[in-house]
Amino acid sequence: MNDRERIDDLEKRLINLESSLQKETHKMNAIFSSMTEAIIGIDDDLNVVLMNQAASILVRVADTDAKGQKISELFPLYKDKDPIDDAHSPIVQAVKEKTIVRTYIYDNIYFKGSDGFYIPVVLSAVYLLGENSIEGMSTLIIIRNVIQEKSVDKAKTELISMASHQLRTPLTSIGWFAEMLLKGEAGPVTNEQKDYLQEIVESNERMTELVDSLLNVSRVDLGTFKVDPKPTALVDVVESLCKELTPMISVKKMNVNKIFSKELPLINVDQTLIRIVLQNLLTNAIKYTPEEGTIDIVLKKQDTNMLISIADSGYGIPKEDQSKIFTKLYRAQNVRDKVTDGNGLGLYIVKAIVEQNGGSIWFSSEENQGTTFNILIPLTGMKAKEGAKALPTDLALS
Ligand code: ADP
Repeated sequence: MNDRERIDDLEKRLINLESSLQKETHKMNAIFSSMTEAIIGIDDDLNVVLMNQAASILVRVADTDAKGQKISELFPLYKDKDPIDDAHSPIVQAVKEKTIVRTYIYDNIYFKGSDGFYIPVVLSAVYLLGENSIEGMSTLIIIRNVIQEKSVDKAKTELISMASHQLRTPLTSIGWFAEMLLKGEAGPVTNEQKDYLQEIVESNERMTELVDSLLNVSRVDLGTFKVDPKPTALVDVVESLCKELTPMISVKKMNVNKIFSKELPLINVDQTLIRIVLQNLLTNAIKYTPEEGTIDIVLKKQDTNMLISIADSGYGIPKEDQSKIFTKLYRAQNVRDKVTDGNGLGLYIVKAIVEQNGGSIWFSSEENQGTTFNILIPLTGMKAKEGAKALPTDLALS
């Protein structure tokens, strides 16, 4: 091959290379723009570098106009209806920590569109590392609109809410009539019949408890429970619950210490809700502590909050179960055999009530040493929420 031929050959190969490169780029662009998931690429300074057609439709901004905009301006995120700041943004976290951050449907993350509507989304923010890195772009954000999943979820929750509401009336009648028979109001009953009736009464109580818990879960999930705050002395609420729980406490010969700071201010809370919260935590402390155990109930002011802490000397929560105990229906493996009457819904309801009302809840636990649940409620109290239904107040003790 002479020089001329070599140059011609090189030129041919270059042309082929360019054409296959063009084809590849074309293929990539076709895939990128036809994806139904919205994709936005950003740089390390959180500026938009590129986005596909689905993203453009979602944010209602042309990709050329989006380039260079801050991601938080183009794609403002909300947790429920509260804006997510940079410190809590999954996108910022992925960029800062050079990692992958995923959100899930139950994180309740919304994108607020330019028309003011909130669109529920789940997203993955993927920091591009190593051979996946692209010059000038550090992170890909893949966004899925989950409005349909959310509406199916809502329909399911509404069905549970309606069904459990309807079930309460017949359950109440069963309870009354069984009690009447038991008391001999319809004629004398034999001892054997009494035993059977007692079983009916107890099973009915358990069923009522479960139905009430399901109703509570559906109402906290739908966010439809009523909040009617009134100035309340938490000491009185705790005292009245302890009185109600005296039978359980004395059967297990438990030692309850009330450590209340002097002159605690009244706090503006919904009394039904705070009772549900404290009743769940107190019954759990009793249920999950062996006989002759101790429960310390602390009420004190801590900065701008009221701290409620309930500590027991019980079975504790194993480390591997700790991340799951606030999820629906979860029961830790160490107590499932010891304490059979539980449905794993109480703490889910407690957390939702506390957090939906501006408070926070956390716990520490050591297996076979005990567990402490802590709640902070801002001294400013709960905000009233009108036009919604109250949670059932006559919760049977679990
Ligand atoms: P339930 O008590 O009906 O099972 P909860 O939602 O109230 O449901 O609690 C969930 C799980 O958390 C319990 O089943 C138990 O495993 C664990 N748990 C809650 N409170 C305590 C406690 N004080 N001590 C030990 N384990 C606890």
